[in-house]
Amino acid sequence: SAMATSKIPHATAKRLPIYYRYLHFLADAGKQRVSSTELADAVKVDSATIRRDFSYFGALGKRGYGYEVESLLAFFRKTLKQDKLTNVALIGVGNLGHALLNYNFHQSNNVRISAAFDINEDITGTIQSGVPIYHMNDMKEQLTVQQIEIIILTVPSNVAQEVTNELVEVGIKGILNFTPLRITVPNSVRVQNVDLTNELQTLIYFLDKFGKDDETP
Ligand code: ATP
Repeated sequence: SAMATSKIPHATAKRLPIYYRYLHFLADAGKQRVSSTELADAVKVDSATIRRDFSYFGALGKRGYGYEVESLLAFFRKTLKQDKLTNVALIGVGNLGHALLNYNFHQSNNVRISAAFDINEDITGTIQSGVPIYHMNDMKEQLTVQQIEIIILTVPSNVAQEVTNELVEVGIKGILNFTPLRITVPNSVRVQNVDLTNELQTLIYFLDKFGKDDETP
């Protein structure tokens, strides 16, 4: 079909996995179509937002008929790359890195960590949670050979930028940055920051300031 993915707003893109999971559930249950109101109820996104989101990918839905579950699902599967396995590498197998190696990226069976890297020779050359740990000296070669474009970064923040620079050189496309450092990358590389300490402090701040009943921005 003519569904285009290039101009989808970030907020819409972030809702795609939520839609995907529910449509998958509907398809498994044998449902052929779904209305935006039904979807809204199930995924807790208001129906106007859903209709607008869906219009970005050309799925207009028919009044009184709703959306075809299978064709939407096929679109999401393709957009979310659920139809192919995405190999991801993790760099820095410390406490957090280790936890993420163990984490089963449930609900998205098509993402897996296929390689990890560290400088600590006590763990390089071993397999942890089914993932081989390579030395940083072999990073560029392994990323290239395994065609890995996405990195989970869990190194100490004082080395985050230098590691990032190496990743940029080898042509990485995306970094999930768990370090508190706001790394600098060229426009061709996308960074998602996950700063757990910051999130926790934000929560504490809002609880202190407003209590749990107030709406936070
Ligand atoms: P975390 O911060 O994840 O809880 P930690 O406290 O166990 O980890 P850190 O000192 O933060 O340890 O280091 C995280 C991991 O990054 C360690 O396994 C360390 O060996 C590794 N590491 C340190 N420097 C580098 C580097 N330049 N390249 C790759 N890995 C590195």
